[in-house]
Amino acid sequence: NNIDKATILQRAIEANVRYVRLQFTDLHGSLKNVEIPVDQLRQALDGNIMFDGSSIHGFVRIEESDMYLQPDLSTWLLLPFAPDGTTIARLICNICLPDGTPFSADPRGILQRVMDEAKTFGFDDFQIGAELEFFLLRLNASGKPSTSPNDYGGYFDIAPMDAGENCRRDIVLTLEQMGIDVLSSHHETAPGQHEIDLPPTDALTAADRIATLKMVARTISRTHGLHATFMPKPLQNEDGSGLHCHLSLHHNGKNAFYHPDAVYHLSPIGTAFIAGLLFHAPAITAISNPLVNSYKRLIPGYEAPAYAFWSTKHRMPFVRVPTTLDDSTQIELRSPDAACNPYLTFAAILKAGLDGIRSQLQPPRPVDSSVTGMSEDERFQHQIVPLPANLEAAIHALEEDEMIQDALGLHAFSHYIQAKLVEWEQYRATVHPWELDNYLAHY
Ligand code: GLU
Ligand code: MG
Ligand code: MG
Repeated sequence: NNIDKATILQRAIEANVRYVRLQFTDLHGSLKNVEIPVDQLRQALDGNIMFDGSSIHGFVRIEESDMYLQPDLSTWLLLPFAPDGTTIARLICNICLPDGTPFSADPRGILQRVMDEAKTFGFDDFQIGAELEFFLLRLNASGKPSTSPNDYGGYFDIAPMDAGENCRRDIVLTLEQMGIDVLSSHHETAPGQHEIDLPPTDALTAADRIATLKMVARTISRTHGLHATFMPKPLQNEDGSGLHCHLSLHHNGKNAFYHPDAVYHLSPIGTAFIAGLLFHAPAITAISNPLVNSYKRLIPGYEAPAYAFWSTKHRMPFVRVPTTLDDSTQIELRSPDAACNPYLTFAAILKAGLDGIRSQLQPPRPVDSSVTGMSEDERFQHQIVPLPANLEAAIHALEEDEMIQDALGLHAFSHYIQAKLVEWEQYRATVHPWELDNYLAHY
């Protein structure tokens, strides 16, 4: 995409843009932005807009806190939900230090670094198609999100069981107005749960679009009197919200995961990539499943993976290889949840897959039978390991995996670990309703 600054300035005039939002995400995937009047746009395009990094999660540095926003010109688009006809544009930015060098813990920069590493392997494109699940919840009397879903529909239901269809379509329409293609959308299994699927794009665009989709869903759902939550498991005894990722690596326009004669049309490169994902599964989980609550989703019985194994038929694997009739072989990673930082998650996934290719790892055989029905011995024979049981276990796995640490870089890694251990300690020190229900009367 070779759009230049002059073109952006021209487009801003043509569209009568009044304000521009400069956006980026913090270490935990929260979208941040500063809004500038359009007369500051030239300054912004030159990378001269500064902010205080010490106020952003994961950006604090000892030396100094001044950071600069370097817009990615290809991310220019108009936001269709501005009030009273004011036209607002947005640009997604990379984070730079005062001397112009990229800030090492900028999640977007982290993903770009690993994508550049893939290029040294000869893979000029890493593509991801994403399935993003979320809940539409009612607002309570004081306007706060409640835990009551807006309907009791199920998988693929239509109205009136699906009471979210207008809100969901409104989200999709808004994305399309912004130039973001949507593959499909539907009601998901749980009450009030929905899914929006994005077609495969390069991983950076995919991460930008997921961040944008979340912002749009949160904004539009409010106009329907609802709250869109990407919390991994908001409702007890119901499915959680995943972010299934359909992965493929490309070389000179050819899908490197495809082989016409191989079983499942899966090339040796694809097989090694899967082996890398399985090998690094526990450490990846610390990033792709970042919350205490994430681990309430990764249990058997709710279509989410609980064990690291791969399959072509199963509903519950960590990695699934969907059947394809053409050369579009994909690897579907099913563990990430809707709350993860997509930039960091994609960086970790790619790093793990590349390690599988570099080290010529071989995965265990795919498992098509029920894993929960197996004894521990049987699982051991199939080389099936459980995913980390909680955030603490995942963080310890990340601390032991130098490859995934290397994907993040030292600054992001240490801040991430620190923040997550604090989160875990707070949770550990909390007396939960379950404990009161089960212990108070008995002891
Ligand atoms: N909601 C399920 C999850 O937690 C996935 C359902 C599906 O297969 O789409 O990942
Ligand atoms: Mg789904
Ligand atoms: Mg899926």
